[in-house]
Amino acid sequence: MSKGRNLFNASMTPIVKSSTRPKWQRIPKRNVFYHKSPMHRGHFVLSFAFNFDREDEVYQFALTFPYSYTRCQGYLKVLESRAEHLEGNFCRELLANSIQKRRADVLTIGSVPKRAAEKRRVVVIIARVHPGESPSSFVCQGLIELLVSSHAIANTLRDNVVFKIIPMLNPDGVFLGNYRSSLMGFDLNRSWHRASPFAHPTLTAVIELLTAIDKSKDYQLDFIVDIHAQSTLLGSFVYGNTYDDVYRYERHIVFPKLFANLADDYQPNNCMYNSDSSKIGSARRFFCANLNDKINTYTFEVSLFGYKLKGSDTIIPYTEDSYKRCGRNLIKAFLEYYQVTGVIPISPTQELKKKRPRRHRSPSSSNRTRPNTTRIQAPIHYKDINIYYESESDADEPTFRYKLSPRKSIFRDHRSSSPPPQTIVVLPEPSLSIIDFNIITKADFENATRKSQKDGKVLNET
Ligand SMILES: [Zn+2]
Repeated sequence: MSKGRNLFNASMTPIVKSSTRPKWQRIPKRNVFYHKSPMHRGHFVLSFAFNFDREDEVYQFALTFPYSYTRCQGYLKVLESRAEHLEGNFCRELLANSIQKRRADVLTIGSVPKRAAEKRRVVVIIARVHPGESPSSFVCQGLIELLVSSHAIANTLRDNVVFKIIPMLNPDGVFLGNYRSSLMGFDLNRSWHRASPFAHPTLTAVIELLTAIDKSKDYQLDFIVDIHAQSTLLGSFVYGNTYDDVYRYERHIVFPKLFANLADDYQPNNCMYNSDSSKIGSARRFFCANLNDKINTYTFEVSLFGYKLKGSDTIIPYTEDSYKRCGRNLIKAFLEYYQVTGVIPISPTQELKKKRPRRHRSPSSSNRTRPNTTRIQAPIHYKDINIYYESESDADEPTFRYKLSPRKSIFRDHRSSSPPPQTIVVLPEPSLSIIDFNIITKADFENATRKSQKDGKVLNET
């Protein structure tokens, strides 16, 4: 709260509700002051003017929309009671009890085939390790709501992928109203590398669970996404890892790119990929170092305040619903990822059924004759991500195989004139950009990007 770099400097204001006006509302900006105070050793102080207009009202103020332990338990109970339609594809279990004996639950959503030819893919979602970051719970609830629904996306994902979701990893901290720490004062997202059953019972339970999945012959652990909220930056974005292996790094940035295509609030400038030693105890760093080397672990961040639409400086404050939409976008990105990587087949008929977006045409433009244009099929570019997966399985082959389907490319700059389904063989382009992955800070990364662009090379798309 006392930091100079804070969303209160970006016109964030506290929210308020009262007994007869139960909907959270933002206090107008003109009544809120965030200033450096000599009386507080030069720290920043938040003050605001508020008129308590009714004597018998109870007023509540908050930094962002609260999401309590009780609310989480109530939601999980309702989910459990309505899970019949999922026909065994939903399970709520006790992962661990906290130090004060509160529940840390784990949900399993997705079907487990009895004799699978291939390993079943597993996605792990962790939320609310930092108690004050309540938007994390809304994002988590949003993605659960989509996953347990009867939507086609949910049906497809449940048939092909198993989701392990831990909605509240720090129940004691949430119950006690801590901002960042657990009951014993630990920042749990800096304690994964030294977790003990006595001091961090929920962490050791997660490590045990994920290690068992990782060693299992039936499962392949693909993703761990740890959901947080940000007090200094706008929008949604990810923190990821850097790898010496260029192909591993390219695979690592695929999922954020897919998410970026789906989310209006995504802020690529806020993303950071590093191997900073101060973050060694975070879930992102710990699991990528201790589990299989195909796993992708991310810290997913969403702003405590709002986001800017692309090309605009207007800040749109998040609501409970727009936080949930972030969760739904995550799920859609997982579907795209598994379709792109061939885990979930794309049915051509399903794609052809998709309606084209309607374009508004004015009466005058309807009479205008369209200029004759020649459409040529775009060449396949090495950036098309299939190469990073195909190159693994066909490592000994000198060529790479691309499967083209009528589905449009996920990268919008590759347009084609609806080629028929076919398999063609092309040689990879000879030039790959050289990227120095030893750079660890965002500033270094941006400098390197600028330098590379100046040299006429493309470093990366984001
Ligand atoms: Zn956090």
